[in-house]
Amino acid sequence: MIIPFISSSFSSNVYLIKAKKITLIDVGMEPENLLKKLKEEINLEDLNLIILTHSHPDHTLALPFLLKETRAKVAIHKDELTSKTKSIMGFPIPEIKPDLILNGGEKLNLGDFSLKVIHTPGHTSGSICLYQDGILFSGDTIFACGNIGRTDLGGDNKDLLSSIKKLNQLEVETVYPGHGEIIAKNAREEIVSSLRLAEDCQ
Ligand SMILES: [Zn+2]
Repeated sequence: MIIPFISSSFSSNVYLIKAKKITLIDVGMEPENLLKKLKEEINLEDLNLIILTHSHPDHTLALPFLLKETRAKVAIHKDELTSKTKSIMGFPIPEIKPDLILNGGEKLNLGDFSLKVIHTPGHTSGSICLYQDGILFSGDTIFACGNIGRTDLGGDNKDLLSSIKKLNQLEVETVYPGHGEIIAKNAREEIVSSLRLAEDCQ
């Protein structure tokens, strides 16, 4: 079961996956708010894994607070660890010490659910998306309404275009993006619109 915590602020969306291994995708930047919501859903000690779609602070600032309260392991793509970006819009990127360093292509086994890691550089060099059976967690690579991630914060336009081409080859029914609304209808068309926009940005 996927429980979305959709953010209405600069902080990213956070997705709780209540699989056998309870997993969070991104943690946002509002730790108190997140911990409160999580406690309504799970025992914090049961949180098993935190997957970060990339290292930007709007997705990761709450991490140190969460690690104080849980024993969750942290997974992130290797290219995020070598990024020279230290802060974004005045917010520092927290120190991330991953337990699991991803290369892309892995299948993360969450017990009764699994997620395939897709390396989707462009917004940042180590951005990832996560996919399983029509469900796509798209980080800051694509958003609703055919929008795409910005590339002026350490990213690359050409990489973003090839990453969206990769996503366009998947069978997708629902997209859970890093910001904004979930794409629950016409996901295919919306991904094609994102692809067009990325092409226009070249
Ligand atoms: Zn970002």
